[in-house]
Amino acid sequence: MITKIPKQVIEVLQKIEEQNFEAYIVGGCVRDLIMDKIPNDWDVTTNATPEKIQEIFPDNFYENNFGTVGVKVEKFTEGEGEHDVVEVTTYRIESKYSDKRRPDEVAFAKTLQEDLSRRDFTMNALALRITHNVERETQIKKRSTVHDPRFEIVDLYDGQKDIEQKIIRTVGNAEERFDEDALRMMRAIRFHSQLGFAIEEKTLQAIKKFAGHMQHISQERIKDELVKIILSDNPAEGIEMLHETGLLQFVIPELESGVGIAQNRHHIHTIYKHCVLALQFCPSKKMEVRLASLLHDIAKPQTKRGEGEFATFYNHDHVGARVARKILQRLRFSNEIIEKVSMLVDNHMFYYNPEEVGESSVRRLIQKVGLENMKDLIDVRIADRLGSGTPKAKPYKLRHLEYMIDKLSQDAVSVKMLKINGRDLMQDLGMTPGPKIGAILDVLLSEVIEDAAKNEKEFLLTRAKELDQEDLQKLREMAKEKIEEKKEEDDKEIRDKHWVK
Ligand code: ATP
Ligand code: MG
Repeated sequence: MITKIPKQVIEVLQKIEEQNFEAYIVGGCVRDLIMDKIPNDWDVTTNATPEKIQEIFPDNFYENNFGTVGVKVEKFTEGEGEHDVVEVTTYRIESKYSDKRRPDEVAFAKTLQEDLSRRDFTMNALALRITHNVERETQIKKRSTVHDPRFEIVDLYDGQKDIEQKIIRTVGNAEERFDEDALRMMRAIRFHSQLGFAIEEKTLQAIKKFAGHMQHISQERIKDELVKIILSDNPAEGIEMLHETGLLQFVIPELESGVGIAQNRHHIHTIYKHCVLALQFCPSKKMEVRLASLLHDIAKPQTKRGEGEFATFYNHDHVGARVARKILQRLRFSNEIIEKVSMLVDNHMFYYNPEEVGESSVRRLIQKVGLENMKDLIDVRIADRLGSGTPKAKPYKLRHLEYMIDKLSQDAVSVKMLKINGRDLMQDLGMTPGPKIGAILDVLLSEVIEDAAKNEKEFLLTRAKELDQEDLQKLREMAKEKIEEKKEEDDKEIRDKHWVK
């Protein structure tokens, strides 16, 4: 186990101890070491003040006032991540919580014991100290045993036992701890879905009792935990538990509207259940694809018309894109993520049937969605299918679509990909710079999307000459008409073949 600690981290500990302060690796990283997992980040705790820490490590950054100094170290890679910072925090106690969010002030503590007592769960209240001459010994890859003379684990709350028995339990009284900081409840559920540990009974009861306190928690903090649930191996478990404990109302209340709402003859699950299962079965590990899988049918409750086998959900994709955007904005996701997820939700109903859909339709889909997003869109579709209880993840149709995308990936779907550009029009046809050039290129593109063989320089120039006879207004209409007309055809196909039947 100890051989898993990077030498950069050990050096930080040693440098602090050389100055006669205490230094421990602490929190989630000790838990991960014990579980033989690769820690996400490395946290060190010490009785040195932030000022002292900065003196010991001149290459640091200290921006907040929570007593945490980021110490720059030589870059090291671990798991999938690269690190060049070790966070060193002065022992703390969190004294007052008048608003259930964050301590009103950070009070430094004198002892490790005090620092451990403020931590959320027993498994996270562990500290590890290196006992002697590690540098030499870590080079020898030795057996890993917990009774290792090279380090000492401080475990005041039986955290190791809880790790062994896979139990999430608060340090001290659960109700008090959740009353201090309501986010801890969501963290319990996050660890449940990440680690597969059970939440101890009193802890679970306290979550149900204090669920309403989540309203005091900032959206940013909620988002961070939600992302960890979504990216865990068992995200459905996490969402279900949020729902059962009453926390989901403060995270994504929109999901609750689908609870108990039946769909139609194409679905065996309720809307809510289907959303959660789609997330669970999402084949992608990307956050945005998982979010889109969870949210793809978010607007089904409000677009449902009729009851029973023949209920319909017209437009739920487009309305859903707007709802998803609102949810993600509220949760303070980045614009990039918001755009991507709402685009995936918006397009998740794309129609594809090899016998009926021609190459031009596929090119239009690629044009709309972007070639770089096609795989993610197909992953959302697979999630959707698997979440419906359909046996085959990737039926012939989707595999065929992948083949088509591959085949058509070189075809022009944007003006940039045409074999001529504005300069050619000016040089060869003597056109003057102006909006007409753009309009002609747009018409040419719409024709090339219809028939990729037309993307030849000679042909396009001849056609451009013809188009140059038309006035700007007319050209714009031509480009628009082509696109609209085709879009309608595609949409009609979706409605007719896939959706209502
Ligand atoms: P991860 O693997 O996601 O990094 P972690 O357990 O390290 O999980 P962090 O959010 O990095 O979690 O926090 C580091 C440590 O700080 C925790 O292990 C815990 O001891 C303490 N901690 C974090 N958030 C809280 C909180 N809200 N209340 C009490 N202690 C907390
Ligand atoms: Mg951590």
